[in-house]
This record gives sequence, C-alpha cells and structure tokens, in this order.
Amino acid sequence: MPFGGGGEMQKTAWLAALLLVLSAVSAPAGTLTEADVKRTGEASKRILAEALRTGRTHALLKDLCKTAPRRLSGSEGMAKAEAWAERALKDIGLENVRLEACKVPHWERGSVAELACLAPVPDTKLPILAIGGSVATPGDGLTAEVVEVKSFDELHAKADRVKGRIVFFNRPMDATLPDTFAAYGGAADQRVRGALEAAKVGAVAVVVRSLTTLLDDIPHTGTLFYAAAVKRIPAVAVSTLGAERLAALLAGGKTVKLRMRLDCRWHEDAPAHNVVGELRGTSRPDEILVVGGHLDSWDVGEGAHDDGAGCCQSIAALALLKTLNLRPKRTIRVVLFANEENGSRGGRGYVRTHAAELKHHVLALESDRGGFTPRGFATNAGPAALEILRALAAPLRSAGIEYVRPGGGGADISHMAKFGVVLVGYVPDSQRYFDLHHSARDTIETVNERELELGTAVIASLLYGVADMEKTLPRNDAQAR
Ligand SMILES: [Zn+2]
Repeated sequence: MPFGGGGEMQKTAWLAALLLVLSAVSAPAGTLTEADVKRTGEASKRILAEALRTGRTHALLKDLCKTAPRRLSGSEGMAKAEAWAERALKDIGLENVRLEACKVPHWERGSVAELACLAPVPDTKLPILAIGGSVATPGDGLTAEVVEVKSFDELHAKADRVKGRIVFFNRPMDATLPDTFAAYGGAADQRVRGALEAAKVGAVAVVVRSLTTLLDDIPHTGTLFYAAAVKRIPAVAVSTLGAERLAALLAGGKTVKLRMRLDCRWHEDAPAHNVVGELRGTSRPDEILVVGGHLDSWDVGEGAHDDGAGCCQSIAALALLKTLNLRPKRTIRVVLFANEENGSRGGRGYVRTHAAELKHHVLALESDRGGFTPRGFATNAGPAALEILRALAAPLRSAGIEYVRPGGGGADISHMAKFGVVLVGYVPDSQRYFDLHHSARDTIETVNERELELGTAVIASLLYGVADMEKTLPRNDAQAR
C-alpha cells in the first residue's frame, strides 16, 4: 500500500533500518553481536544492584586488613595474607584454588628511624620513614651537612658541593595537574633513583620529600633502586611539613646539619606465592581472563587501598557472578599477586608458570589505583578490541564509568603485554589516593563502602561481557621476544 494508511508501517520500517545502522556502529561487525550487548547490559544491572545490596567487598577488605595488615613480601603479614586469600577463594566456591610458588625480595625496616637537625636548631626531630630497600646507617648514625636540590640536573650542577653531604630532594608533586597519578609520575624519580644519583656524586645519604598531595606530618615510603657498581647510601622520606621546615632552615644559604639513624636489613629472597582460583567457563574453559591485584603491601598502615581493595574487588567480582548464576563461556581466573611493591616478582612468576597457555589468555584486568568511585578503564587494546570494550562498558555509565581509553593496565599484569594479552586497568577517581598511598594512613577506615562496591560491580560486568562473548575478543599482536 504505497499511499495512505501505511504511515505507521513506514515509520516502523525506518526505525528498524535506523537501529540496524546504529548497531553496526556500536558493535564491530562479526565480533560483538547484538545479543552480546543485550546480555551484558542486563547482567550489569543485576551485578550493580547485588554489589550495592551485599557490601561483600568491604567485608572482605576489613577482614584482610585486620587479619593481615603490613603485608610486605617475606614478612609474617604476607604469610598470613596468603592463608587468608586461599580460604577466601575456597569460601566463595571457586575451582582450582591453589598457591603458585615464586621467590620474593625480603627487606625489613627495623625499629630505628631518626632524622634530627643538629644545627642551626639543635635536636629538632623530623618525621621520616626509611625508603623501602634502603641500607642502614652505621649503628650510631651518620651526621652531615645538607644540600637541597629539586632535580637531578640541579644535583649534577651542584656536584662539587655534594661530596660527603646529605642530599635533600625537595620537588613537590605538581598540584596543578588534575590527574594525581601524572603528578606522582612527575616526582617519583627522586624517591626511586635519588639515592643512586646522589651516590654517584659522592653524597652519604638522601632525604626525599614525601610523595603526597597533602601538607602534613605523615611520611610516605615506597621503593628505590640501587645499582651494582654504585655505593648504596641510606635513604629516607620526610613528611611534606618536615620538608617545608628543612627548606626554611636552609633558606638564605644557612648551614644545616642532620643526623640520621636507620637499622633496616636485607635478607635472602624468601618463598612466597601467587594465590589463584577460577570460575571455569561453560563452553570455552581453555580461554582465560585474569582479574587481580597485588596481595603484598608496604609495612605501614594496612594496605587497604594499595592494594587490598584490588584483591578484594577481584574476589568479590567472581562471588557476584557465582551468586547471580552468571557463569560465562570462558574461564575467569583471579590472581592475587605475591609481590608488586618492591620487585614485581608476582607478575613475572605468573608469566613464567603459565607460559604455555598465555596464547589462550584473552584479557587481564587489574585494580591497583585504590577503592574509589569508578571513572573509567585504561587499556592497551587495539582499535577493534577497544571498540568492543567501549560497547560492553556503555551500560556502566550510571555507576560512574565515563570512558575506556588507551593506557596502561597495571604493574602486575604488564608482563603479559608482550604475549598479545589485552590489558585493562580499572581507573577510579584519583584525588584522595596520594593522601594515604604507602603511609600509615592507608587503613580500612579510609575506604568508603559504596565507592568500593561500585568498583567491584563495574569490574565484574566488564569481565562477564568479555568472557561470555559469542566470538573471542581480538588479541593484540604478540611482540617479538
Ligand atoms: Zn599497588
């Protein structure tokens, strides 16, 4: 009926054609189907509601933080954490729960950490923590004058004044950057390589301004690198207010003398384990998705955000899928990595143990940026896989997911990149992370339950979407090794 009376039918036909065009845009042809998108959207709603209703992630995290705080590799806390994690994975009914052995660095901070100003103000104490991996001072401490620098360029320009002195690195994180991880990245060289660079020009120790966006008296630790051919000198992080006081004393070219005492110790590498469990896939169980975080933490605070949050979100994400009977076609494997903070041996160990099956790894997702409100995902996926991830993440907008953008996945999973595995990093809001990162303040009391659960829900939804696709997510090209 070409004229009259067919208006509604024509409209319907037009609408159908338009929907087809739209679906062709949102779903890359041949890989992601309309059914995939629909199924993931429906699952996401249920996952989100269940996560917020049960609060399981927060309960798990509280238990971890109180059972095994201070989980530095090789420590008693880490051994307790492994036992806790094995039990947690069994409790939610995962399959193939196991501990996979690897060797980890073993450093202890000791009980003495003192930095005192002897002149011009006698015996003023400054709040410090030894930087992780630092060597000790002589038993009665070391005393030297201080030279302040803001960069390695300035250090080398002042090389003739540094010999026999303590170098004070005092470049703050750039407060003008909205992304605090970028600000951290721009200042972390002082903590990581400061002792090495200062030793090259004859310094006897270093004091580094804590890497935090706050101005307070809480020092923040972290790792450092030494090099085999360069003398190892002691290194401490001073609180940001302590750094301001030291800078004020030095202002106008005054001579400032400090005394430092540390009794840190290095031991032989220690035995440790990645803790692993699986939700086996229904029809393609040999294709694997990994989700995880690192179980180790620094030896101050409780490692609640770094990275107890990521571990518990990974466990709780699989618990949600089980509870809701959302068992996907492919296997999802939770991996709680043994060592990230001072060596990345957990991630390396995983790649070694699973070398033969990495070609069947579809995706690895890590949460290691704190348990804060969701913002997005970062991924190394190629263009086709990126579009698929964007389509599958679209229903998560209401939970705070604003983007899937190109970027890194996470330190523990980074070792899988060269095998062609698509890496995804969960990106929560970054504004509060460096208030507490690597400090005594990183405790369960700083974790907001609903923000944490939203993170679990978006991780579980994206994992489910990819794990249950009709066709497999395109992998990246494996790089020549
Ligand atoms: Zn971490």
